[in-house]
Amino acid sequence: MECAGVGLHSGAPVCLRILPASAGSGIIFRRVDLDGFELEATSRNVARVSYATSLMKKGVLISTTEHLLSAFMGMGIDNAIVELDNLELPILDGSAQPFVDLIRGAGIRKQRRPRTYLRIRRELEVREGNKFIGIYPADGYSVEYSINFPHPLIGKEIFTLDLSQGNYLTEIAPARTFGFLHEADAMRKQGLIRGASTENAVVLTAEGVLNPPLRFADEFVRHKVLDLIGDLALLGKQIVGNVVADRAGHAMHTALVSRLLRDHTLWEETTMEDSVPPAIPSMQLAQRV
Ligand SMILES: [Zn+2]
Repeated sequence: MECAGVGLHSGAPVCLRILPASAGSGIIFRRVDLDGFELEATSRNVARVSYATSLMKKGVLISTTEHLLSAFMGMGIDNAIVELDNLELPILDGSAQPFVDLIRGAGIRKQRRPRTYLRIRRELEVREGNKFIGIYPADGYSVEYSINFPHPLIGKEIFTLDLSQGNYLTEIAPARTFGFLHEADAMRKQGLIRGASTENAVVLTAEGVLNPPLRFADEFVRHKVLDLIGDLALLGKQIVGNVVADRAGHAMHTALVSRLLRDHTLWEETTMEDSVPPAIPSMQLAQRV
């Protein structure tokens, strides 16, 4: 299954195709325009992180990976090959919904091999000014996000998602990325949001939204949950733990991932066969796409 679009930041046209991969291979990006160069979606390949999460290996870049990785995690897909012919994933409608539809179209099937989980044993907290992210031991996988923007439609929003309830698809996947109109010119001068439009982002004016309607009254915080789940996919395993974030962003999400992976006393790998049932069934793309 494939789709075409433009990159949010580069504005570059790109075609993307999702293919099945064998159990244990994880999510692998493949640059078909660079002789099929492969980049694994793991923490050690994380590069520049500011307004989006980018991966780099041997100088080859794959940018804005978070929405597709979020869709994979939310759907329980552990293994897939993602082919693209340019440096940035397509932004499509700004949410994970088109990726969910694409993955569904490709077909998914249950994996025979038991999945290994990363179970949090001790808490880890990262603070930076008034930004915060922490991860704690828990039975399933849940996230809580708080944001606070001085805007009449946002203000303080908190959203909690228990991924074991299977509500990612209805509650999170459709939430779109957003930006403030008054910041757009400065961002474009920095080489950002060259592909942004009212078709792929909620654009906030001083008083409201340039392109209504919103998909949820609290679509903004839901999109932050979407981004967080996508960035945490760089752990390379489904998490058994509770994540709490307050005004964090891609840089803090990925900092949590790399600090967690560096300290093996914070977590253990488990197949959970003799404990609680898996939060999300382990799925892979069907072999015939
Ligand atoms: Zn996003």
